[in-house]
Amino acid sequence: MTNKPRIGFIGLGIMGSLMASNLIKAGFSLTVYNRSRGKADKLKAQGAQVVETPAMAAKLSDIIIEMVTDAPDVEQVLFGDDGLVKGKHQELTVIGMSTNSPRYAIDFAKRLRKMEIDFIDAPVTGGDKGARDGTLTIMAGGKPEVFRRVVPVLEAMGKNIVYTGETGTGQMVKLLNQIVIGMDMLGVSEALALARRTDTDLDALYRVLSTGAANSFTVQYYLPKMIKNDITPGFRAIHLRKDLKYVMDVANELNMPMMGTSLLLQLYNALVAQGFGDNGTQALIKFYEKFSH
Ligand code: NAP
Repeated sequence: MTNKPRIGFIGLGIMGSLMASNLIKAGFSLTVYNRSRGKADKLKAQGAQVVETPAMAAKLSDIIIEMVTDAPDVEQVLFGDDGLVKGKHQELTVIGMSTNSPRYAIDFAKRLRKMEIDFIDAPVTGGDKGARDGTLTIMAGGKPEVFRRVVPVLEAMGKNIVYTGETGTGQMVKLLNQIVIGMDMLGVSEALALARRTDTDLDALYRVLSTGAANSFTVQYYLPKMIKNDITPGFRAIHLRKDLKYVMDVANELNMPMMGTSLLLQLYNALVAQGFGDNGTQALIKFYEKFSH
C-alpha cells in the first residue's frame, strides 16, 4: 500500500514523456494519455497504465498533469469531448504545466473551481535536459494550500519549486523567463554567426562564453549543438514563438514598449515561415546563415 496520490499525465511529447518517466521513478502510480498512442506505449513499458481518453485518466487519478502545447489544446483536454472534467470525482486537482498565459490560467482555474476541481498553473524551465535529469525549475501559482498538496509531485520532476503567488502568476513568471531565454538565443546566434565569418576558433569561443560573464543555459547546452549544426528540437522554435506572442499580448494590453521581444517575435515568425518551426530554437542560427552569406 502507498499513501502517495495517484497521478495522471496528459501529453507525452518531448517534455511530458521525460517528466512522466521521473514520476514513475519516484514511485508514483501513473496513468497516461497521449493523443497519438505510440508515445504512450513507451511509458507503458516503464510501468504506466495507458488509457484512451483524458476523462479516463482523471477517473483513475487524484492529481492530473497536463503538458500539451498551447491554450486551445489545454481547453480540449480539460473541457472537450472526453475531456478530463468528464472523469471528475471528489478531490481532483489539475496541474497545468504547459506554457500559455496568465489569462488562460485564471480562466481554467475559475471554470474548474465551479466543478470543485482545484487548479495550479505550474509551467517549467530547464529544457529537455532538465526534464530528463529531474532538475527543472517549476514556477507555481494558485491557492497556497493546493500548492502545498502538490509539492511532492513537483519535486519528482524538478529541483527548484518556486511558489509565485495567486493563480496565473506561474504563467506570468514563465513568460518573463521566455524573454530572457529568447534574448540569450539571439545573442548566442549572432556571436556564433560573426565568429564563423571571422574564422574565430569555436572551441575557444565556447570555453570563454561558458565560463565567463556571458555564461547561461543557452551557452552551455545549445551553443555546442549549434557549432555542430544540430538543430534537432529540445524546445521547438514554434513553441518559443507561441510564448513570445503571449508576452506581446500582455505588454500590448499595458501599452508597454517591448523592443527586444518584438524583434525576437519577428525573427521566430520568419523562422517558422521558412519551415524551421519543428526544429529547436537554436535554428535561429539559420536566419544568420541565410542572410549573411
Ligand atoms: P511537444 O514535444 O510538441 O509535445 C506536445 C504534446 O502535446 C504531445 O504529446 C501532443 O500530442 C500533445 N498535444 C498537443 N495538442 C494536443 C491536443 N489538442 N490534444 C491532446 N494532446 C495534444 O512539446 P514539448 O516540448 O513537450 O512542450 C510541451 C509544453 O511545454 C509546451 O507548452 C512548451 O512550450 C512547454 N515547454 C517546453 C520546453 C522544452 O524545452 N521543450 C521547456 C519548457 C516548457 P501528440 O503526440 O499526439 O502530438
